[in-house]
Amino acid sequence: MSDTSRRLETLTVTAGRPPHVPGAPLNEPVTFASSFVAGGDLEYARYGNPSWTALEEALGALEGGECISFASGMAAVSAVLAQVPVGGAVVVPRHSYQHTLALLDDGASAGRYEVRRVDVADAAAVEAALPGAAMVWLESPTNPALEIADLPRLTAAARAAGVVSVVDSTFASPLLQRPLELGADVVVHSATKLIAGHSDVVLGAVVTDQAALAARIRHHRGLHGAIPGPMEAFLTLRGLRTLSVRLGRAEANARALARRLATASGVLEVRDPGFGTVLAIVLVDAAAADKVVQRVRLWIPATSLGGVESTLERRRRWATEAATIPEGLIRLSVGIEHIDDLADDLLAALA
Ligand code: PLP
Repeated sequence: MSDTSRRLETLTVTAGRPPHVPGAPLNEPVTFASSFVAGGDLEYARYGNPSWTALEEALGALEGGECISFASGMAAVSAVLAQVPVGGAVVVPRHSYQHTLALLDDGASAGRYEVRRVDVADAAAVEAALPGAAMVWLESPTNPALEIADLPRLTAAARAAGVVSVVDSTFASPLLQRPLELGADVVVHSATKLIAGHSDVVLGAVVTDQAALAARIRHHRGLHGAIPGPMEAFLTLRGLRTLSVRLGRAEANARALARRLATASGVLEVRDPGFGTVLAIVLVDAAAADKVVQRVRLWIPATSLGGVESTLERRRRWATEAATIPEGLIRLSVGIEHIDDLADDLLAALA
């Protein structure tokens, strides 16, 4: 049985390991090298490193394509958006990750491309924006509004319209959503989040099952130099090994917490996409939300998400966050602590 025929939980543990031969290390070691002796597969480390290769094998096996790892999620986003021809149009959720939108706005103001913002939960609206576009960016769930896109419908519509479809699947991880299987051309991850899982590394990944596209994106990485460090690749792969157990625990916590928050004092709305580890609550205004963030003791006030530790932040504290995100919205990244401790701390801060 080939490795890739195994179940995803097994692949998180087995993929990207050295061969089982006597004396071999169980894990691909970190290779600190800028240059390799000429004549082998690797020559210069901007084009390859064995520590990346191991991680890329694992993420590629999980998503069902060829993986190219990057220095950050944003480097991965940039490399994919660079595939849009000058003068092309990009369809994007109005509540995509704020810096994906900022990068698109930069490209639009430089005259690189046109940006069409849509409500990604409204499939008909996305379809209406597709004609003549070069790329449709689908983020699902969106950050931080937690809207869900109908990925099979939208990737099929994109294909029929000749539009490249990309899914930023950061909030789902490969264990909860496999966009290539759902018809997407490209998957993007901020592996900084759930995949690495310990809030100690920044890394991004692109996966596609189209060889020509993968080659172009790899070429872009080599020329632009947005490469992951070998230590970061090692840490990300080590984090990936425990993704299924972390995710299982954090998802159970998130669903239980959403139920308890539904009746909590001052909470106007609980947003729960029904899977994954991120929730959002909406309070009456910014001051009420800031007070909760200041009062928690166990939860950590911090940006980012997907770590083992629970974090929260009021998203509109960032001036760059979309104006349509409520001022009182707190994003909750639910970790793997005991649910009662998490709930007690947050409910006390809300009371
Ligand atoms: N995509 C999403 C959905 C994100 O939430 C983030 C970061 O928060 C990124 C991309 C960018 O990733 P990175 O911070 O690793 O550059």
